Amino acid sequence: MKTIGFIGGMSWESSLEYYRIANETVKRLRGGFASCRSLMYSVDFAEVEKLQHAADWEALCGLMADAARRLQKGGADLIVLCTNTMHLCSGAITHAVSIPFLHIGEATGKRITAQRLKTVGLLGTKFTMEKDFYSRKLLEDHGIQTLIPDPDQRDAVHRIIYEELVKGIIRETSKEVFREVISDLVERGAEGVVLGCTEIPLLISQNDVSVPVFDTTRIHAEEAVYLALGEP
Ligand code: GLU
Repeated sequence: MKTIGFIGGMSWESSLEYYRIANETVKRLRGGFASCRSLMYSVDFAEVEKLQHAADWEALCGLMADAARRLQKGGADLIVLCTNTMHLCSGAITHAVSIPFLHIGEATGKRITAQRLKTVGLLGTKFTMEKDFYSRKLLEDHGIQTLIPDPDQRDAVHRIIYEELVKGIIRETSKEVFREVISDLVERGAEGVVLGCTEIPLLISQNDVSVPVFDTTRIHAEEAVYLALGEP
């Protein structure tokens, strides 16, 4: 089994999920006492959030590259960045290390393609919804079109992520907001919905939605384990 190097802490609420899902996946595949060989380098999210909202992506990419280097030095065989948003820095990470980097959009695109969907709704931080690093990855590498919510809805989704979900706050009223946003995307033609922020699955699950839901936290953690185990 290879050693997965997780860059975590963005937020730690979702990094916990990565750790849990990766271990559960190894147990399901290997049985017995098997568990996931891993390292996690967990950042201080206060520093990251401040730089994000100051749009200092150069400093953020420096932080991500540094975390990846530390994981490689510590013995990781592959890098998994436990946040969609910070994949804006995926280029800096791949430059910094010589071990493979499993892009969250790559793992998600593979699952969407397996279900033969061509158009999906994308929910995430405003950085993920409005900058093109995520939608371009899905389009160029997988031929998948993305739809994003209207500006007011994007504000609401972003606010709920930063004021509630990354702090572990789960509100029924926010779940309703997400349900409405998703149903508008479905009306506009989304055949599935990408939960493109690793905390959204703490609030929304397949049971809340009428079309297939792509939980990027679960997908990313599972695909990392498949790579680590060399299967399926
Ligand atoms: N975990 C979130 C994501 O998947 C948001 C927090 C962050 O900005 O990294 O995008």
